[in-house]
Amino acid sequence: MRLLSVLSLSILVAISAAAEGPIERLSGALRFETISHQNPTDFDPEPFSELHRYLEAAFPKTHATLERERVADYSLLFTWRGSDPSLAPILLTSHFDVVPVIPGTEERWSQPPFGGVVADGYLWGRGALDDKVGVLATLEAVEALLTSGFAPERTVYLAFGHDEELGGDVGAAGITELLESRGVRLWFSLDEGMAIVSGIAGLEKPVAMIGVAEKGFLTLRLTATADGGHSSVPTPDGAIPRLARAVARLDETPLPTRMGSVANAMFDALGPHLPGIQGFVISQRWALGGVLESILSETPSMNAMIRTTTAITIVEGGVKANVLPTSATATVNFRVVPGDTVAGVVEAVREIIDDPEIEIEIEEGREASKVASDSGEAWEAIRAAVESTAPGVIVAPALVLGGTDSKHYGRIADDSYRFTPFRLGEDDLGRVHGTDERLAVEDYPNIIGFYESLIQGASGTTR
Ligand SMILES: [Zn+2]
Repeated sequence: MRLLSVLSLSILVAISAAAEGPIERLSGALRFETISHQNPTDFDPEPFSELHRYLEAAFPKTHATLERERVADYSLLFTWRGSDPSLAPILLTSHFDVVPVIPGTEERWSQPPFGGVVADGYLWGRGALDDKVGVLATLEAVEALLTSGFAPERTVYLAFGHDEELGGDVGAAGITELLESRGVRLWFSLDEGMAIVSGIAGLEKPVAMIGVAEKGFLTLRLTATADGGHSSVPTPDGAIPRLARAVARLDETPLPTRMGSVANAMFDALGPHLPGIQGFVISQRWALGGVLESILSETPSMNAMIRTTTAITIVEGGVKANVLPTSATATVNFRVVPGDTVAGVVEAVREIIDDPEIEIEIEEGREASKVASDSGEAWEAIRAAVESTAPGVIVAPALVLGGTDSKHYGRIADDSYRFTPFRLGEDDLGRVHGTDERLAVEDYPNIIGFYESLIQGASGTTR
C-alpha cells in the first residue's frame, strides 16, 4: 500500500506540477527524498533523477530555452546565454540534497518531513528552507521572466548541486571545474548562507544579512604519549593528565578577535539603527578599545562571528582501570575566520599548549573564503533586489559560520555572496537541519520576486 502510494505519488506530482501555482510546485519538490547520508553507501540516486524529471515538467519554458547539463549525474547546470558575450556571467546556485531526519524524531514533526504539506500558513518539510526553496524560487523566477519575454544581456548560470550537505566535493566542485575548463570567470555568484533575520541585537526591523564570506575549517588531533605501566605505581607524566592540561589551556585561551574581516562592516551597517547603549557602544567602538569585543565574546553566536572558534569534540585514552595508558588523544575543531589561516591557527595552538611533548596533527583543513565586496555594482544589484521585494529591511554584510557550495564557486567568481531571501524568526534557526523545517507561504512570492529582480537588474548592467 505504502509502496504503491509512493510510486503513484511521483507520477501524479509530475503531471500536476505544471498546472499548479508556485507553492504547490515547491511542495511537490519536497516530497522527493533527496537525502545526503554521511555514509556514501546509503546514497539513493532515484529520488534525484525523479526530481530532475519533475522539474522538467514543472518548468517547461526554462527547459526549452536554457541549456541543461547533468554534472556528476545528479547535479544540474543551466546556461541562459546572454546577448552580450563581453559581459562576465553571473551564477545563481542552490542545492537539491537535504540532511536526513534523525531517526526517532519523525514523531516530533507537526507534519511529515517529506509530505510537502501546506497547513497553518506554512509549507512544512525538509528542504523548505535548506535549500529546495532556493532551487524552485530561482526556476520560478526564470520561468516568469521567459514568459514575460525577457532575455538577458549577461549570461546567467543556474547551478544546482546534489551533495552540498557532504561538502559539494562532487557536484559543485564538478560544475566549477567544468566552467573553469571553459574559461568562465564570473562577475559574482549567489548561494544560500544567510537570510532576512528578525530580532538581531534587539533591532525592530529585520536585517537582510548578505553573507560575504564563509569560515574555514580545521580539525587537529593532539596526542600525548607516556611509558604506561601498572596503575599501582603511577608516574608523574601520565598521558591523560598531560593531554588534559593541553586541552584545558586551549579551552581557556580564545584565539584573537578579527573584527576587521567582516564584523566591522556589519556593525557599520547595523550601528545607525541600533538604539540606546548598544548604538553608542557600536558607534564609539574605535574609542572604547576592546569593550565591544568583550561584550560580543559573551554570546556564542556573536563570538563565532568575530574570531576563530575552538571546540574540543573528542577525547580518547586508556583501555583498563588498572593500566596506565601509553597514549591519549583529543580532537579539536576550529572554524577559521577570514584573516586567520590554517597554518597560523596551528602555530597559535602550539604556543597556547606550550608543551613540545604533545604531537599536533592536521586531520582536515580548509582556509576561510575570500571576503566579497560590500560595495560596488554586484553588491548594489543584490541590495536593490532585496529592497524591491522586502522594503524597509536593513541590508548588512555578514559572515557565514557553516559551509556552502560557494567554497568551490568562489574560485571562479570575483565576488561570492551567500543569501537566500526567506525570513527567519528568532525560533526558526533550529528548524534548519532540525525538526519542523517550514516556510511561510506568504513569504514565497517575495523570494521569487527577489530572483526575478536580481536577474533583471544584474544581467543587463554593464561592467
Ligand atoms: Zn544548505
